[in-house]
Amino acid sequence: MAFSSDVRQEIARVAVTKRCCARAEVCAAVLCSGGLSFRGMGRYGLVIHGVNDEIAGRYIEVLRRFFRCQAALGTIETPRLGGLTRYQVMPPEGEVPRLLRELKLLDNTRLFGLRATPAREVLKDPCCRQSFLRGAYLAGGSTGNPKKAYHMELAVPEPELARCLVQLMKGLGVPARHTRRKTQQVVYLKDGEHMARMLAILGAHRSLLEFENLRILKNIRNEANRQVNCDNANVDKSLAASERQISMIRVIQKKMGLEKLPEPLAEMAELRLRHPDLSLGELGGMANPTLSKSGASARMRKLEAIAEELVNG
Ligand SMILES: [Zn+2]
Repeated sequence: MAFSSDVRQEIARVAVTKRCCARAEVCAAVLCSGGLSFRGMGRYGLVIHGVNDEIAGRYIEVLRRFFRCQAALGTIETPRLGGLTRYQVMPPEGEVPRLLRELKLLDNTRLFGLRATPAREVLKDPCCRQSFLRGAYLAGGSTGNPKKAYHMELAVPEPELARCLVQLMKGLGVPARHTRRKTQQVVYLKDGEHMARMLAILGAHRSLLEFENLRILKNIRNEANRQVNCDNANVDKSLAASERQISMIRVIQKKMGLEKLPEPLAEMAELRLRHPDLSLGELGGMANPTLSKSGASARMRKLEAIAEELVNG
């Protein structure tokens, strides 16, 4: 299965044990993927959209256990998205105001009396901050294939909420960035180290282990590639130089003949023609008497000068 769906599935199975954490996670689900509407006179409509049946089932269970709320599971077929089934969690309308009150999402000082970001109290404890991020991830989170590139994101509907997530993550040692994509706000990470920390915060420990193994492999491979690239570059450079030297020597051969060269230069020219893949240092080692690398390259420069003179007449 793809890494991204593994991460989501693992997070969807993290146990919710405390009511404070249940509140934080459902609060995130409502803010990030809830259809929340004001219907006048203290009446509200609420639908939580789940990505799949497992996530929808998680929220039905959490609402029942921690909020004594019996929500219904709804499905919508989306022919335009290739017949994909979308899942919805729908608390009974009569219970929505109480639920919103318990989630601390009502605020009379705001438009329609609803908050766009979680109340400070909901994020008071570290356990709840992690739970809130878990809810945000299950609503709009995804992780790219770490074999290709490091990318993790949380998509949310409102910029205010995106800024809140950035702050929250920063406080947990994960510096995230925020950008807009079409109608969505995207909070994202591009750094392997930060992604690893985020996976730990979300409680995706199996995925974290896999992620870290991939990172180690990738680092080793990058290191090896750097080495090979470096070696290749050097080989390419000396081969190109050797080809140039050979074509110069061929000019001398054609226009005056190598035998007319002073003895030491003729020797160097012959050596180069016989061993196109050797470095100048190695050619110097084969000369009689042997030459240093700089001695060999001095002779090669003289050969090049002669060839140039011949070409230019
Ligand atoms: Zn908590």
